[in-house]
Amino acid sequence: MIDDSALKAVSSHRFVSPHYDDIALSCGGVAARVAAYGARSRVAVVFGQEPAAGQPLSGFAQAMHAGWGLAAAEVIASRRAEEAAAARVLGVETELLPFRDSIYRGDRFTNDDDLFGRPAADEAGLPGEIVASLGLPDRPDRSVRFYVPLGVGGHVDHRHATAAGVLLARRGWDVWFYEDLPYALRPQALDQRLESLAAETPMEPGPTVPIGPHWDAKIDAVLAYPSQLETIFRHYVGVGTSREEIATSLRTYAERIGGGAAAERFWRLAE
Ligand SMILES: [Zn+2]
Repeated sequence: MIDDSALKAVSSHRFVSPHYDDIALSCGGVAARVAAYGARSRVAVVFGQEPAAGQPLSGFAQAMHAGWGLAAAEVIASRRAEEAAAARVLGVETELLPFRDSIYRGDRFTNDDDLFGRPAADEAGLPGEIVASLGLPDRPDRSVRFYVPLGVGGHVDHRHATAAGVLLARRGWDVWFYEDLPYALRPQALDQRLESLAAETPMEPGPTVPIGPHWDAKIDAVLAYPSQLETIFRHYVGVGTSREEIATSLRTYAERIGGGAAAERFWRLAE
């Protein structure tokens, strides 16, 4: 467990969110906690841009939209409105990086196996582009901390964000890798991801942060994404979408990693 002084040691917190909703789900408690200190707290949504104009949507993308209950023309605007609502709850700023969701990147990813498989070979440069889009100085600033996904579950967009975090850590930036939810709720998912990273980018345990006083803010933030709740909780987790069912499924995991007190857990790149 970690105390306030470690969290207050940095004055700027930058949360890297592959998609709209990832921060609320995975580390919304910590985001609310550091924002409550008055520290500058920003969420960078990496893959949140509109699909390319004039390019037809894949059947897979259309099926995803149907699952969210959103028409193609309103998807991005609706999801940005959800992000803004969650940001108000957590007390964070939002920035939008210039990349598109995997389901809009041509026909590289057209089913769940693609989505949770290895990134396409021609996307090897994306992690470097993500880092470049953050507009950072050459020399690492130790008053800034980045929170990036560990990539549990293996979604390609999350893997790209993990790889961007590894680049940042190797350049000397302070990077905490968060456990991706809901994916980490599945037994073995975390272990499988740690194992897949072990050869080239091994991770070691980092802080576990209690989030008790910010629990309700986290759940409020998750509920600020109504278009996503069916897909995440009913289809992926296998529970209902009432506040109580959502909170219970997340709480069980948060209390397990926190030894009985709700917490969010982080990892670091091993030296
Ligand atoms: Zn995501």
